[in-house]
Amino acid sequence: MARLVLKFGGTSVANVERIRNVARHVAREVRAGHQVAVVVSAMSGVTNQLVAYVQDAAKSGTAMSGLYDQMEYDAVVASGEQVTSGLLAIVLQSMGLPARSFQGWQIPLETDEAHGAARIMKIDGDKLIEVMAKGEVAVVAGFQGIGPSGRVATLGRGGSDTSAVAIAAAVKADRCDIYTDVDGVYTTDPRIVPKARRLEKVAFEEMLEMASLGAKVLQVRSVELAMVQKVRTFVRSSFEDPDAVGVDAHGNPPGTLICDEDEIVETQVVTGIAYSKDEAQISLRRVADRPGIAAAVFGPLAEANINVDMIVQNTSADGSVTDITFTVPETEVARARAVLEAAEAEIGKVVIDASTDVVKVSVIGIGMRSHAGVASQAFKALAAKGINIRAITTSEIKISVLIDAAYTELAVRTLHTAYGLDKA
Ligand code: ADP
Ligand code: ASP
Ligand code: MG
Repeated sequence: MARLVLKFGGTSVANVERIRNVARHVAREVRAGHQVAVVVSAMSGVTNQLVAYVQDAAKSGTAMSGLYDQMEYDAVVASGEQVTSGLLAIVLQSMGLPARSFQGWQIPLETDEAHGAARIMKIDGDKLIEVMAKGEVAVVAGFQGIGPSGRVATLGRGGSDTSAVAIAAAVKADRCDIYTDVDGVYTTDPRIVPKARRLEKVAFEEMLEMASLGAKVLQVRSVELAMVQKVRTFVRSSFEDPDAVGVDAHGNPPGTLICDEDEIVETQVVTGIAYSKDEAQISLRRVADRPGIAAAVFGPLAEANINVDMIVQNTSADGSVTDITFTVPETEVARARAVLEAAEAEIGKVVIDASTDVVKVSVIGIGMRSHAGVASQAFKALAAKGINIRAITTSEIKISVLIDAAYTELAVRTLHTAYGLDKA
């Protein structure tokens, strides 16, 4: 007997028929003698619709500010998961499997007060362990918890992954299965590169980079948590026939295990390619080239909590003025512009250009630590396709380039081929 946490994402619970299919996956594990807790997302599209309602409602004031109270945002958007947890419990009961739904506050899953993107502070696993020990399936509403002031708090988009991994750690589960609409983690997004290959195993550290650089198959925080708490996390498909899941030579179903680096026998130099369209480029033109100018620009941005990622500074031919280019999250462009304008006294009068028509494409692999020349291979491959690089950043295990968004697919496919990742 094992204790399992199974998580089902939005497309897997998109309607009652699919919830019935999910219930069959759950039933299979219960019949195999396992103790099971399930974490569900909202039906696909529902959270987007709820966010749109919030934005619409916030426009109705005379100020037309579009700003809204984050606590009330959470009150609205957490409702999607409440619905699916109740529906799955009903379907399980109708199949003769005892089941009970739980919202975040009922566990309780306690968060900090950062409503809208709250962090999990503490989970009491006792109630869920008790429920499972009685032979009941605990069905937990993902994405939500309870904040310090006793109000519902949500964990940021994609947060049900994090709920699942955190609950798996709290109940000391043997494994956390993340069921989604693809059968594992691929070398890149299989929706844009049909030649992408499924990876059998991915190291926590690599998965962390892939997720934070745009591979939305797992929320970044869920990977952080799995790494720290050593939760064996297995990504797999909910769309396989629940009663006829194929297995490989080792008896494992198709999927990807996120695990420690030393569990991976064969490592490649490059493991995967990710892309993120959530980037914006800001260029400051004709900035006076003097000591302290970088501090004058980036200090106020840091104080305003605006995350600056890639930075490029060109030295001008005559040494008097320079261009400074950097990236911020797309959602922060307006705020960044306001902060820079407010800092005009220190920076001087400059032209601020902003572009959101950019994408960050990244090449990831722990094997890069011990291999030289990985970056130049990317630059050559992109140049051969006539793709211009606007900015570059690198770390020990990744290289990121900023390019025009129009070239996203071409760039991802080109790099995928260049690093020998295409499936045969
Ligand atoms: P869920 O609703 O189940 O949480 P998501 O839509 O959040 O599912 O994540 C699954 C999607 O992630 C896939 O449909 C796929 O398009 C995308 N994706 C991006 N990069 C990858 C990758 N490297 N491997 C697998 N899927 C990826
Ligand atoms: N329903 C939430 C979202 O769409 C959480 C999740 O799906 O993980 O972001
Ligand atoms: Mg998701």
